[in-house]
Amino acid sequence: MQFFSMAVIPGDGIGPEVTNEALKMIKKVEELHGGMKFYSEHFEWGCDYYLKNGRMMPENGLEILKDFDVILFGAVGAKTVPDYISVWELILPIRQKFQQYVNLRPIKLLRGMESPLRYKNHEDLDFVVIRENTEGEYFNSGGRVHEGTPYELAMQNSVFTRFGMERILNYAFTLAEKRKKKSLTAATKSNAINFTMPFWDELVKEISGNYPGIKTQLYHIDALAAYFVSRPEEFDVVVGSNLFGDILTDLGAAIVGGLGISPSGNINPERAYPSMFEPIHGSAPDIAGKGIANPIASIWSIGLMMDHLGHDHIGKLIVDSIEAVLVDGNIRTPDLGGTATTVEMGDAIISKMAQLA
Ligand code: ATP
Ligand code: MG
Repeated sequence: MQFFSMAVIPGDGIGPEVTNEALKMIKKVEELHGGMKFYSEHFEWGCDYYLKNGRMMPENGLEILKDFDVILFGAVGAKTVPDYISVWELILPIRQKFQQYVNLRPIKLLRGMESPLRYKNHEDLDFVVIRENTEGEYFNSGGRVHEGTPYELAMQNSVFTRFGMERILNYAFTLAEKRKKKSLTAATKSNAINFTMPFWDELVKEISGNYPGIKTQLYHIDALAAYFVSRPEEFDVVVGSNLFGDILTDLGAAIVGGLGISPSGNINPERAYPSMFEPIHGSAPDIAGKGIANPIASIWSIGLMMDHLGHDHIGKLIVDSIEAVLVDGNIRTPDLGGTATTVEMGDAIISKMAQLA
């Protein structure tokens, strides 16, 4: 029997509603697999906690989390708490402290879903974006001087380290080796950003030498964004810096049907620290408490968690079950044009999984 410890942070708004469905999926996985058991502990951290205690999580929050194998995260955010607090005091410290340097997002048009791109079907849209999650453009360094004068200026530094780039590129190449198309596309902008991006390009070329089976290409970010729309069938693994990856992942989510569907993993591949799995959407205060949020993104996050824990076949089974329910088409939440509740959608996926297993 394999035991895993899981910290659950449902958070705010629809976070707890969709997380509940993901937890039902964990139960089902334990039942179907037999050889896997999850020990889970819940933490009611987030904006309510902040309004009572003046912080998003307890002072020793990271200490508490550090020995878990995985973290299941819902969403945080509330109108009463500024975004910079909810994000900077909870999600970012977790990503940074636990060296979750891989932000992984599948860009896959599920069967039963339609892409807003005309003439594109699900075989055309099936790739993964790997975003560097710890350095690059989102590095807290810079300054602003001469405020309020005509000479006012702001500068922001990007930091690209050999260590940081090598580890994200090695992860991306290794992933490409496991996939069908055996191709890797790296986002760059070395024609205009003349210190960091040439260094990135050099490392892409250098490291590609260690992966002779992988077809490697470098595209400038502007062209690459356009190709996401005009020829997405070309892509397999796409890797980018923190900023470029951020933009590409949202664009990617949009071409495969959007927020309610898309999951993500914040991964520490060495498993020295916990990895965190979450839907990409936020707390959605406009629909919170109504029981109509789409739980697919959160349930699919469990699929990514299974891949990470070495149970890829279960990860695939979860995606197959979601697809089968979408293809059936009669149970859909309102964002997908139906009238089903969060619970009904979750139940449908879970009972489909029992059939397919
Ligand atoms: P936050 O500040 O926490 O990000 P937000 O107001 O930006 O909250 P998002 O969660 O980013 O809200 O969602 C943007 C829009 O997408 C909202 O209208 C929301 O209702 C919708 N949405 C997001 N997630 C889902 C979901 N799982 N199911 C249905 N609709 C969703
Ligand atoms: Mg949002």
